[in-house]
Amino acid sequence: MNEKISVGISSCLLGEKVRYDGGHKLDHYLKDTLGLQVSWVPVCPEVETGLPVPREAMRLVSGSQGPRLVTIRTGIDLTERMQRWAEKRLKELEKADLCGFIFKSRSPSSGMKSVKVYDSSGVPTHAGVGVFARAFMDQFPFIPVEDDGRLHDPALRENFIERIFVFKRWKEMKNKGGSLKDLIAFHTDHKLLILGHSPKHYTMLGRLVADAKKQEKELLHAEYLTTLMDGLRLVATTKKNTNVLLHVAGYFKKQLSAEEKEELLEVIETYHKGLVPLIVPIVLINHYVRKYDEQYLKRQYYLHPHPTELMLRNHV
Ligand code: SF4
Repeated sequence: MNEKISVGISSCLLGEKVRYDGGHKLDHYLKDTLGLQVSWVPVCPEVETGLPVPREAMRLVSGSQGPRLVTIRTGIDLTERMQRWAEKRLKELEKADLCGFIFKSRSPSSGMKSVKVYDSSGVPTHAGVGVFARAFMDQFPFIPVEDDGRLHDPALRENFIERIFVFKRWKEMKNKGGSLKDLIAFHTDHKLLILGHSPKHYTMLGRLVADAKKQEKELLHAEYLTTLMDGLRLVATTKKNTNVLLHVAGYFKKQLSAEEKEELLEVIETYHKGLVPLIVPIVLINHYVRKYDEQYLKRQYYLHPHPTELMLRNHV
């Protein structure tokens, strides 16, 4: 994977002064750390629909056909204007080869969940989705999405970044032709990664691939991708990772000495107890994979799912 991954992002998170008050919401991690690994495609729905900076603030207001996007002071309804723009913009974004999108949390245009929606008495509930975010997720149901607020949680951050890399590899597999052989290779490379998220989805995908010849290619791909993305959305917990690590340790039964085995199991147990981060057993396992040239493990993305520079597995 040589070229950088394209990821959409709400422009204000990159420090662009596009907010209603003329400010920005720069997120240093996104701009300076993740930004080294991905190629951003910034989108500001409010400015791109032609609204000025600064501008009147807006919010979601409940309506009979769903929430409306309305300016707070003058009550101008901007819903249709933004939906019309979104339709065109999403067509352009189709060509941008996006593998993910990071939305600005709580925004009535860009927020992907829990956006305040006000009822006729002005009482808010946290039940809304921003108008552009809604249109984006409807158009691209498989593209991994997150918001900046949730990405401060290390587990959710790793989960999202892992998914954008998996999605990129999925697209590459499809672009190669997506033959049955390609799908089987993709599945084999991701087996342990999937197991780390969900043993249930691991079994379902295994069955799907085993019965692949019975299905028409596009239907098979659609079912595989839906199941894969559903499974990967589940966070890889310590318990699930421990299960994978023990499974991996089983591959070295013959090669490791009694002391090496004991050390490996001890390191896994220390991780299980929450005393060291996941990267510690992973480094040791990768050492044995190289030392014993363990071919099946070598190709497992579980052991190197995203660039080491992001240090996503370094938290306890
Ligand atoms: S939240 Fe969305 S609409 Fe608001 S300034 Fe940021 S990018 Fe623009």
